[in-house]
Amino acid sequence: MKRTVTRLADGRELIYFDERDDAVHAEVDRRDLPPPPPASELRHDPLLDEWVTVAAHRQSRTFLPPSDECPLCPSTEDRSTEIPSSSYDVVVFENRFPSFSDRHPDEAPTAPNTLVPVRPGDGRCEVVCFTSDHHTPFAALPVERAATVLAAWIDRTAELSTLPGVEQVMCFENRGEAIGVTLHHAHGQIYGYPFVTPRTRTMLAVAARHTERTGRILGADILAAERAAGDRVVTANEHWTAYVPAAARWPFEVHVVPHRHVLDLPDLSTSECAAFGPLYLDLLGRFERLFGTASPYISAWHQAPVRHPDRGLAHLHLQLTSPQRAPQRLKYLAGSESAMGAFINDVRPEEAARRLREAGEAR
Ligand SMILES: [Zn+2]
Repeated sequence: MKRTVTRLADGRELIYFDERDDAVHAEVDRRDLPPPPPASELRHDPLLDEWVTVAAHRQSRTFLPPSDECPLCPSTEDRSTEIPSSSYDVVVFENRFPSFSDRHPDEAPTAPNTLVPVRPGDGRCEVVCFTSDHHTPFAALPVERAATVLAAWIDRTAELSTLPGVEQVMCFENRGEAIGVTLHHAHGQIYGYPFVTPRTRTMLAVAARHTERTGRILGADILAAERAAGDRVVTANEHWTAYVPAAARWPFEVHVVPHRHVLDLPDLSTSECAAFGPLYLDLLGRFERLFGTASPYISAWHQAPVRHPDRGLAHLHLQLTSPQRAPQRLKYLAGSESAMGAFINDVRPEEAARRLREAGEAR
């Protein structure tokens, strides 16, 4: 794999990840762009002890442009996009409308009151384009490309983890308008958060209690229990198992977990990396076929935070969730979920696993 680093017209970094070692990207971004917006504002919610990001500039970001105005397609003679090159395999660049960035505003944010501390939204937000083809979803990529995307995720996790202020790195893909995707071209994002996210903080506290009680790693014990039970396993290979968690929150939710206790993506071995792509593409294919049309989904990596004292208790996994519960029917986060954080799932996890297994057999 060849890695080529360049800068866009407004100074943002862009990195090409090419499968061919002789790939050349000499094109220059010819656009006249305003400087990127300054970092957003973090406000601390005193009721929940959680940071909330206020990024008002994101209101003006590109929203569902027609395909001939797609900013993620390669540039042509007549049209300059976010990617200056005329072709690419995988490309990563700093988000033009970031939730977090290292560009500080001229004036420090002021606290709304003494109970709500504020600070700049330090960190980094990147966009990952999985293919130069506007119409190809991740599920239809060749295995080699899935490997290149994984290599880019590993590269970015390692680099963002070294940035001052970044506490946690999440690689994720939102797919489908139902999820709120604003661009159809297959792409994902990478967030370098300036704090440990609420979900991760809770998971680490629970994992620490489990280790204190048993001396064991919680993620490994859950994986072993799911593999032993088997009825929620969707698919597996030598290095990975994909299962519907016993207490799944979403109509269709799958966790993809390495068999070895791995903390983050850079921790994966060569053979674990090679085994991930085929299994993940198989799983995404099942979500494409489940209801006859492609299901919307959120696919997100849970990695150990960068420097949390309990990071060694984390267990790398990918969480794939779809709000689609039936053809044309979506689950919305309504009263119980939105107000109380208490999920009510309309689909039995064992039934979801069975349907996903069958969606594989239909190939
Ligand atoms: Zn496109």
